[in-house]
Amino acid sequence: MAQILDGKTLSKEIEAELTERVKKITAKGHSPKLAIMIVGNDYASQTYVKMKMNASKRIGVEPIEFHFDETATTEQILKTLKELNNDKNVVGIMLQHPIPKHIDERKIDDSILPSKDVDGLNSASFGAMALGLTAFAPATALSIMTILHRYKIQIEGKYAVVIGRSAILGKPVSLMLLNDNATVTICHSKTVNLPEIVSQADIVVAAVGKPKFVKAEWIKKGAVIIDAGYNEGNVGDVDLFNAAEISSAYTPVPGGVGPMTIAMLLEQTVIAAEKEFLNK
Ligand code: NAP
Repeated sequence: MAQILDGKTLSKEIEAELTERVKKITAKGHSPKLAIMIVGNDYASQTYVKMKMNASKRIGVEPIEFHFDETATTEQILKTLKELNNDKNVVGIMLQHPIPKHIDERKIDDSILPSKDVDGLNSASFGAMALGLTAFAPATALSIMTILHRYKIQIEGKYAVVIGRSAILGKPVSLMLLNDNATVTICHSKTVNLPEIVSQADIVVAAVGKPKFVKAEWIKKGAVIIDAGYNEGNVGDVDLFNAAEISSAYTPVPGGVGPMTIAMLLEQTVIAAEKEFLNK
């Protein structure tokens, strides 16, 4: 019977650990804050921001939301960002994606101080992470790695196939698996013979954005399935109903990678706060 890699329970455990760590900071009279910037009125984004703010409150970090109008300019957002970068109590800053096309997303992400880049999306953080140096990592990629580590799934020497190469997910998780000594293949929309490649994988990471895209027939018996997808109707990118049985372990959707992503944003926020206030 396949093991369920339960991200929901794990995220609760991590939140409890983080709450204790935050208490040590607030006990010294400090009040760390997490700034979340959101642009426009995308319903899903607003829901995600609400979830992040609630989780932040639960661990004792005060969230502050900066809600910009759909018509806001890159310069307006950068002006707020500059103030946040200079505010000692703001230990973490993130921009909720997606943002309207007219805004220079890269410029904003890259203007977040690396020490406050708790969502791990600026180029400096990405470069350091790719080199295997200590750096903040994109939260969803880190969520996947933390699930694998905490459930003691062997990575070293395993053949991992990642489907998807986005900057926030497929690409960073591939590099993180490589840094952990997996042999990694990254697949994308131009990959030829995808089912054949996936069928050789010991670890399959699906980050495609297409419901039930990865079929059960592609999965090698005993493989570990990480389904990062989250599509309408609460379904992932893998046909888990049929594939789970073939795997040795899998992340459910919902309740796998999703809840852990918020926990990782918080963990990186607490690390930033410890560095700022406890000189860790
Ligand atoms: P994305 O930016 O749209 O990237 C999708 C990737 O899939 C691209 O690299 C694309 O290839 C590849 N792809 C598309 N069609 C393909 C095909 N037919 N064969 C092989 N590869 C194909 O998506 P994303 O932001 O990485 O998100 C991926 C999934 O993760 C989505 O379901 C999203 O909802 C979910 N997600 C979950 C969380 C969470 O916290 N749980 C967070 C973020 C995202 P090309 O590069 O060639 O276009």
